Amino acid sequence: MRKPVILTVDDDPDVLRAIERDLKKHYEDRYRILRADSGRAALDLLRRVQLRNDAVALLLVDHRMPEMNGVETLQEAIKLYPNAKRTLLTAYADTDAAIKAINDVQLNYYLLKPWDPPEQQLFPVLDDLLNDWYADFHPPFEGLRVLGTRWSSKSYDIRDFLARNQVPYQWLDADAADRDVEVGRLLKSLSREDLKLPLVLFPDGSCVSEPQTLELAERLGLRTRAGLEFYDLAIVGGGPAGLAAAVYGASEGLKTVMVEREAPGGQAGLSSRIENYLGFRAGLSRRLAASVWRSSLPGRPPLCGSMGRTVTYASMMGRSCPVMRCC
Ligand SMILES: Cc1cc2nc3c(=O)[nH]c(=O)nc-3n(C[C@H](O)[C@H](O)[C@H](O)COP(=O)(O)OP(=O)(O)OC[C@H]3O[C@@H](n4cnc5c(N)ncnc54)[C@H](O)[C@@H]3O)c2cc1C
Repeated sequence: MRKPVILTVDDDPDVLRAIERDLKKHYEDRYRILRADSGRAALDLLRRVQLRNDAVALLLVDHRMPEMNGVETLQEAIKLYPNAKRTLLTAYADTDAAIKAINDVQLNYYLLKPWDPPEQQLFPVLDDLLNDWYADFHPPFEGLRVLGTRWSSKSYDIRDFLARNQVPYQWLDADAADRDVEVGRLLKSLSREDLKLPLVLFPDGSCVSEPQTLELAERLGLRTRAGLEFYDLAIVGGGPAGLAAAVYGASEGLKTVMVEREAPGGQAGLSSRIENYLGFRAGLSRRLAASVWRSSLPGRPPLCGSMGRTVTYASMMGRSCPVMRCC
């Protein structure tokens, strides 16, 4: 699980460094400490964090900042992360503003500057808040997410490609924004030009609109180019016939390449189990087809991807195939 975020915001570089140093000393093993030097920068950072689907546990924000003060920053930040705990850092003279913020942004606590020694003035308060936050925390999904609309053929193609290639993903229905809090928040945090659906969001926070399967295959690390200049045997189609031929070819020591345009398994990949298939005594399922694909490549990740418009590759370079022994 990726570490939840603690974000601290202050326009004074010395204070920002000092609070970051203290937070890192005490929390870095469990939380990712991020910092921003203004309210705007903090909100941009939170939007990027949201695209990665990371959790934010705590916002620790200075009140007196130019352009956007601490309360205004928190007001916007909680639209993105309503469950994050909110703390304002104030000078003694700002306590009125802090008291007002208790109502405006449901402030959890306000801390007075300076907070020395942190073991007494800072960590006990933050520990309590973080324990509270953790009690209600459900870790977010950390894999690929697809945001689209249910009846769109482009969304369907992407989901089908991912499912058939056994890539786990989370489906987010853009039409359900009013019922699904996560979708609603995600749509708010995306800038307008990103909003061409379907949108595929990667765990590193990057996203791509209306991707072709070739682009997706490349981003997922599937092979889209042949590794060798020359092969003894080229097989077009990774259905049961192509898979069996590739396995036998490779086991005979032939440099073998298999080209598949969608996903290994062919029609058999559409059925939960194909009974009585030649060469597969126990029948052939989508999972078995995928494992044939993988096990024929000892020590290598599964290979596939797209060449030209839709063609994909797997190469089996004259290795003996474990699957031969079990079929
Ligand atoms: C729902 C269902 C249930 C079935 N149940 C059974 C059963 O119980 N028993 C049984 O014996 N049979 C069953 N079948 C039939 C069986 O699945 C097929 O006979 C078998 O899959 C045929 O294998 P194949 O490799 O010849 O062709 P396919 O499975 O059709 O594979 C061809 C592959 O080639 C790829 N391809 C095509 N053109 C290109 C190109 N230009 N470039 C790259 N790749 C290309 C396709 O994407 C595909 O993956 C079932 C079929 C379905 C759909």
